[in-house]
Amino acid sequence: MAKIACFGCGVCCVAPDIAALGKAIGVPCPHLRADLRCAIYADRPQVCRDYPADELCLAVDAPTLEERVDRYLAAFGLERPPSTSAV
Ligand code: SF4
Ligand code: SF4
Repeated sequence: MAKIACFGCGVCCVAPDIAALGKAIGVPCPHLRADLRCAIYADRPQVCRDYPADELCLAVDAPTLEERVDRYLAAFGLERPPSTSAV
């Protein structure tokens, strides 16, 4: 996929599971601030540093974080666990 500049939508900090953080699918990372910035940016795990901003970010873009997360999960054939919410 073609690389793009990250536009800070926050979906990659909520939608995927991140083993290095013990984070489940669809659950906001505890380090994600309300403004969708990373509270530990300088010390974030390598997996976060390596995450590519690419066309998928554009494909799942939507007006709300909730919608973006649902679109991201759908792109991978996944569903949000019923008890979780992006916001
Ligand atoms: S999903 Fe893409 S655009 Fe959104 S914060 Fe992550 S890398 Fe940036
Ligand atoms: S550590 Fe930072 S970059 Fe990584 S998922 Fe959490 S908020 Fe996002």
